[in-house]
Amino acid sequence: MSENTPSDLPGWTPGDEGFDPDSLDRQGSDGSTMLADLHRLLIESVRDYAIFALDKTGHILTWNPGAQRFKGYTADEIIGQHFSVFYPPEDIATRKPWWELEVAEEEGRFEDEGWRLRKDGTRFWANVVITALRGEGGELVGFAKVTRDLTERRAGELRAVEDARRLAAEETGRVMAEERATELAELNERLRVQAEELDQRKREAEEANRMKSEFLAAMSHELRTPLNAIGGYAELLAMGVHGPITPGQKSALERVQRNQQHLLGLINDILNFSRLEAGEVTYARDPVPLRESIAAAAQMVAVSAERKGVEMEVREGPGVAALADGPKVEQILLNLLSNAIKFTESGGRITLEHQAEGDRVRILVRDTGIGIPADQIDQVFEPFVQVGRSLTHPAEGTGLGLAISRELARAMGGDLTVRSEEGTGSVFTVTLPRATD
Ligand code: ADP
Repeated sequence: MSENTPSDLPGWTPGDEGFDPDSLDRQGSDGSTMLADLHRLLIESVRDYAIFALDKTGHILTWNPGAQRFKGYTADEIIGQHFSVFYPPEDIATRKPWWELEVAEEEGRFEDEGWRLRKDGTRFWANVVITALRGEGGELVGFAKVTRDLTERRAGELRAVEDARRLAAEETGRVMAEERATELAELNERLRVQAEELDQRKREAEEANRMKSEFLAAMSHELRTPLNAIGGYAELLAMGVHGPITPGQKSALERVQRNQQHLLGLINDILNFSRLEAGEVTYARDPVPLRESIAAAAQMVAVSAERKGVEMEVREGPGVAALADGPKVEQILLNLLSNAIKFTESGGRITLEHQAEGDRVRILVRDTGIGIPADQIDQVFEPFVQVGRSLTHPAEGTGLGLAISRELARAMGGDLTVRSEEGTGSVFTVTLPRATD
């Protein structure tokens, strides 16, 4: 098995018989024997290092308690075996144990850290130093092998690396979260600024609209006073209060009065509309018998219809009531009837009727007039829109009548719509909530 016997090695004794302290006394007279025993004592007391000898080919010659402690073999079990039993298969495959001996022999010493096997097959992380042992003539007699179990230290190192890695990952995560939070905060701030700007613009627009309505209301009011004075003085003149007038002067005064009335109507429309827009108008919600409203409005325009040569028919209906503001319903009907007369040629016809359906009532104003072109029908409810109006051919009115009427109808919970065919006529429909009987 081995070329050297343990006794060939200077200072070494084989086996695990243990140290006998009495031997020091017994052999105290022989200095070299005492030194050898001290040596043995030293080796055998060491429990933290496996210290053992190999012969020249790597077979185990000696064994100490440290070796038994962390390799698991007793001296009986291991002495005589090749030290490659401590190496894992991957090291055997590359012939590492034999190579280590070669290096130790050549260089006197070999040091390594790596996995080694215990008797039970488990691994431990070892620091290994192999030292070549030479006889007095310098010839190789074997090797001393000192192995230290660094499993704990390595586990500690790995834990430290793992801790450092975890800390780094946590730190990265924290930094990313902070960056994300900063981004979100910036985004939030931008949104807040934008919302504030929008709010500011909205307030400005509302303020501008309020100022426009105030201006229109004030202007209409201021214009009405002198217009009324013009009307009054024209009337006094026409009555001859300031002396007799010629027929020519009378006719001129009538024109002044007509134009004064017209202008007053325009100004009233503008005033009405600006008040509606400013939300200054309040609405009553009373039962309004439709028959009566229709009759009242029809009566107010009867003279002008007759003068124009337009026939007006009021149809019998269910006699229901709307839940609305009576004077405002009449104002709407008056607007619709004036338009119907205005846009219907002599010989035409206007029909008024009312209906009830569910919780709604409807008033329909039909005419056989000029109708509204399909491409303009959506615009007639917009303020100041007049179909076919041009600078060279100004129409009567302001273009506010339908805008006001629809605004009133909607404010009362209803609506105003139109169906029309150019050249045939139009039907305007006022819808309102129905009053319960
Ligand atoms: P105004 O009558 O003062 O011009 P409105 O708002 O009442 O203003 O009407 C807007 C426009 O709608 C009118 O100028 C006219 O072109 C059109 N329109 C309204 N009613 C009729 C109708 N019954 N038939 C034909 N066109 C109409």
